[in-house]
Amino acid sequence: MIEINNIHQTFILGKKQNETHLHVLNDVSLSIKEGEIVAITGKSGSGKSTLLNIIGGFMKPTSGTVHIGNTNVTTFSEGEFADYRLQNIGFIFQNFQLIPSMTAFENIELPLVLKGLNEKERKHITEQTLQKVGLLDYKSHYPSELSGGQQQRISIARTLVMEPPIILADEPTGSLDSETEADILYLIKELNQELGITFLIITHDEEVARVATKQIHIHDGRIVKEETIQ
Ligand code: ATP
Ligand code: MG
Repeated sequence: MIEINNIHQTFILGKKQNETHLHVLNDVSLSIKEGEIVAITGKSGSGKSTLLNIIGGFMKPTSGTVHIGNTNVTTFSEGEFADYRLQNIGFIFQNFQLIPSMTAFENIELPLVLKGLNEKERKHITEQTLQKVGLLDYKSHYPSELSGGQQQRISIARTLVMEPPIILADEPTGSLDSETEADILYLIKELNQELGITFLIITHDEEVARVATKQIHIHDGRIVKEETIQ
């Protein structure tokens, strides 16, 4: 489903005369099958977010390709990637990235507004999704009136309304205590099993790695370990 081939990423730092090259990803190749939950681990600065940003189209690799299905997404312009992303890739972030001035309902509804659905369709899908993440009773709450775990559920719901086949998550439980983390992991596993969503999850955490069907370990921009879990 996702084929990553020979990705290199080099950042050039400093001014012309004394610029230095930072090799952040070094010949990274990885194949992700439909329905997998892939956990990427590695210490801070090893290149995990850079890899996710390349797959999600927020950054162009210095060289190498990413195919999603049969599409070579590395050739997309920014605008093409934005359209593609809206239809095909969901995102979950460590800091939730909810809009503070909007209620839980309005945050989840937003992608459907952008998609141009009418109010009745939007209400139906939004409430169904709130139900799925167990927060229908909290639909009128603002993000500041929700716990971290609840905010992460709302941000997952906001991604789910677009029915993405793939969700990329950068430290989705990084801001949560261990009990709340376990709940979110359970939700991810459930979405994977019930809806068949493929997940790529960056994590510092051993617990997250436990729900994975495959674990990838990155060290200094290289994949040094790849393990499929039965
Ligand atoms: P963490 O676990 O702390 O989130 P990470 O594995 O996600 O770390 P990255 O964010 O991918 O690490 O960063 C890898 C390296 O690339 C770091 O040394 C970082 O400073 C550098 N880097 C990332 N983005 C840029 C950029 N746009 N320009 C220059 N250097 C960058
Ligand atoms: Mg990171």
